[in-house]
Amino acid sequence: MNLVLMGLPGAGKGTQAEKIVEKYNIPHISTGDMFRAAMNEGTELGLKAKSFMDKGELVPDEVTIGIVRERLSKDDCQNGFLLDGFPRTVAQAEALEAMLASMDKKIDYVINVVVDKDILMERLTGRRICKNCGATYHLVFNPPKVEGVCDRCGGELYQRADDNSETVQNRLEVNMKQTKPLLDFYESKGYLRNINGQQDIEKVFADIDELLGGLH
Ligand SMILES: [Zn+2]
Repeated sequence: MNLVLMGLPGAGKGTQAEKIVEKYNIPHISTGDMFRAAMNEGTELGLKAKSFMDKGELVPDEVTIGIVRERLSKDDCQNGFLLDGFPRTVAQAEALEAMLASMDKKIDYVINVVVDKDILMERLTGRRICKNCGATYHLVFNPPKVEGVCDRCGGELYQRADDNSETVQNRLEVNMKQTKPLLDFYESKGYLRNINGQQDIEKVFADIDELLGGLH
């Protein structure tokens, strides 16, 4: 079961990743974790990646792809894996194809959790935080009893600058623009499966589960 998971910020990708990994017992391989592990282990590629990151530079594709290859060669990936955050570009996707082919493997599905932009905006801009105790609320999903006031300590609630609508809108647009060619690539390969992320969490997972059940 070799999977790639995709979805915009706020689509609920992380929650679904946890559920997939738990049910199917395959490792969740996120780019961040993979880099951290390679650096901690002090592998040659890990050290190379670190030297770029320390300079605040982007890690070149050949290094990233090498780290992915090392990770996918480990024993726990024998029965499959869930890639999350990689590939990010068509060039990386093509490199992944070639790498898997050389390991006598292929991707089964690219699962794309789809949620309308308006709903993502609502999810991502609704967060409010207590100035006093740091408790978090959500205007729609977990509202405070009194608007603008913390239930726990009576402190004032505020919105983080990262969560304001202009910043969120911008983040979503940049993300959509970057992922479009990748989605087209996987569509053309026949791997892409769009899952409706606008249902409750259990129903979203039931849809993914139904898809993956067909692989056994
Ligand atoms: Zn508070």
